[in-house]
Amino acid sequence: MTDNSEQRESMVFMQLKSRGINNQRILNTFLTIPRENFVPQNMKASAYLDNALPIGYEQTISQPYVVALMTQSLNPQKNESILEIGTGSGYQAAILSNLCKKVTSYEIIPQLAKFAKENLTKTNIDNVKIKNSDGSDLKENEIFDKIIVTAATPKIPQNWIKCLKEKGSLVVPQGNIDSQVLLKYKKKDGKLELLETSIPVRFVPLKGKEGF
Ligand code: SAH
Repeated sequence: MTDNSEQRESMVFMQLKSRGINNQRILNTFLTIPRENFVPQNMKASAYLDNALPIGYEQTISQPYVVALMTQSLNPQKNESILEIGTGSGYQAAILSNLCKKVTSYEIIPQLAKFAKENLTKTNIDNVKIKNSDGSDLKENEIFDKIIVTAATPKIPQNWIKCLKEKGSLVVPQGNIDSQVLLKYKKKDGKLELLETSIPVRFVPLKGKEGF
């Protein structure tokens, strides 16, 4: 096994720090999680490139900078329980798992749910629970501290707001199928309030009951 720590250092410096990711806990996490564990075998040489990569089934692992920006916006804390919609490769979940207590992540494509589980296991991560079902139609009993959505979302489903704690935040790429904006909401008096508008992004579409 080769150690890719130099590639990670360079990614953190050139792609993250230089673009304003300054939270040291987050930067340290990107230095420790091996991104090559979350891409298909034939993509390993490209794992540290400054872009999204295909993971099969017409889906992608997001660009490292976008993962970092969303993580910084979500601002995960050690004692928190976080919900992710759109597991994909499991890389975003792996990053979050190092920064909070536990992650629950929904993936609608069975093969990708399996891929992500394997990737997390080989990275020795045991505080991520992957659920293979439609994350736009949650039937959750649990109330989460924060929610992160990593698929393009047309309109926030009511079932997400329901399982978000009061004062909890939601980070989501929202817009139409071709372009979205990264938004951060906060739940106040049972409703979502827009807190931050960040950069334009292009995510794969949310599918399922409340998707595109
Ligand atoms: N966070 C991922 C990248 C997400 S790509 C990573 O770090 O690699 C978006 C993912 O959302 C895809 O895997 C897609 O299959 C999944 N997805 C799309 N609609 C969904 C839905 N309704 N419920 C759960 N997952 C969904």
